[in-house]
Amino acid sequence: MRQLIIIGSGPAGFTAAIYAARAELKPLVIASSVETGGELTKTTEVENFPGFPEGIQGPDLMIKMQEQAEKFGAEIVYDDAVSVELEGPIKRVTVGAGTTYEALAVIYATGSAYRHLGLPDEQRLSGHGVSWCATCDGFFFRQKNIAVVGGGDSAMEEATFLTRFADKVTVIHRKDTLRASKIMQERAFADPKIEFAWNKTVSAIHGESAVTGVTLTDTVTGETSELALDGLFIAIGNDPRVHLVHGQLDLAPEGTIAVQGRSSRTNLEGVFAAGDVIDPTYRQAITAAGSGTVAALDAEKYLAELDPTLTASADGDAPVSPVTASA
Ligand code: NDP
Repeated sequence: MRQLIIIGSGPAGFTAAIYAARAELKPLVIASSVETGGELTKTTEVENFPGFPEGIQGPDLMIKMQEQAEKFGAEIVYDDAVSVELEGPIKRVTVGAGTTYEALAVIYATGSAYRHLGLPDEQRLSGHGVSWCATCDGFFFRQKNIAVVGGGDSAMEEATFLTRFADKVTVIHRKDTLRASKIMQERAFADPKIEFAWNKTVSAIHGESAVTGVTLTDTVTGETSELALDGLFIAIGNDPRVHLVHGQLDLAPEGTIAVQGRSSRTNLEGVFAAGDVIDPTYRQAITAAGSGTVAALDAEKYLAELDPTLTASADGDAPVSPVTASA
């Protein structure tokens, strides 16, 4: 058994791991099977993380955070948590390979997942012109005509990045003003390859084996129009990844995990939450990192106050000691 398991490997998870490892809690980080590093691994230049005046690539920042956590003794499992039992003094986390890990405390830092439009052909054409990741797929759209849906920072960032490859990028937004920050808006407005389709939603995606176009519906007049496209990037925000904790952890009205005041404490003793999964508002790499710090300090305090016989049995010196899943 471990003292602490951290689920998630974005800025919140790895920052929690750095603090917990420095406190000699030897945390086990469940880092995901394909997405270690979280959403920042899908972004390009991060210009607003303090300490990097020249900017840093998102994937590089996450590699550095992981190296820092491992340097102090955090261990990483490259698998997804598929079920959790968080009630009671001993917490259990089962991963995709079927192994169950036990710990006295858990930090839940699973971040958020891309929102979908909810259209019938969206999933079918995913990977065939429909994408949620410009840095992953932009390369395939050299000299093509593509569109980005959304009016926030993500949509502006994706649109601007995609002009490196595409001949034309149309931003499709359901309003006539953007939600994105001023600097991101100005960058997009100044780009000659970017056009805007205001007050429009995508009501259908067309294409047999690959995207050929979309139907747009005007949100003011209700009129529909067709737009021929080679690719459609969806950047309409994220939803917190809470599907594993339904019925165990209380949620806030926004759908994030509810925490007590400025702490990371959830409704369950020994279970802490951090990062985008608790944050419907700020959702920045740096705020997630700060939130991971809070969770590690809360977990450290919780563990220090437990019965010493219990913590002695959670021998962090032992190698990862899986419990075979019973079901
Ligand atoms: P946001 O929630 O900020 O924006 C989502 C956008 O998508 C909004 O314009 C919204 O429209 C639109 N939208 C939502 N649902 C739908 C739908 N079903 N159909 C059509 N449009 C829809 O999400 P982001 O991912 O852009 O940003 C999340 C957070 O990450 C923000 O805090 C942002 O600042 C941050 N971020 C920062 C970056 C940076 O600083 N470099 C880069 C990327 C993100 P409406 O406006 O009408 O609600």
